[in-house]
Amino acid sequence: MPSDPVLELRGRLIRSLGALRDMLPGSFVERKRACGRPNCHCADGQNLHAQYQISVLVEGKPKAFNVPATLVEQVRKQVEMRHRFDAAAATICGINLRRFLKQKEDQ
Ligand SMILES: [Zn+2]
Repeated sequence: MPSDPVLELRGRLIRSLGALRDMLPGSFVERKRACGRPNCHCADGQNLHAQYQISVLVEGKPKAFNVPATLVEQVRKQVEMRHRFDAAAATICGINLRRFLKQKEDQ
């Protein structure tokens, strides 16, 4: 039986999902803020501190969690994994929808 390129793509996408197991929800946000110390470089309102957060819906309510500087690159990648997961899921669902419609037609 000749292999179907669409099913090969679906298989590849499914197998790629395991690499995304560390995905995190929400969006990665960078905020600038002043710390409030009068002698700090941020007191001029220009050289503000960067603060990183992930913004997530928890039980329908928006929450923001601070990301420590040491984890910024890791968490940025983990949030990106979620986007790749969603894109793969959308492609798989599109393939399966077309297969379902074809299946109905063939009945
Ligand atoms: Zn400051």
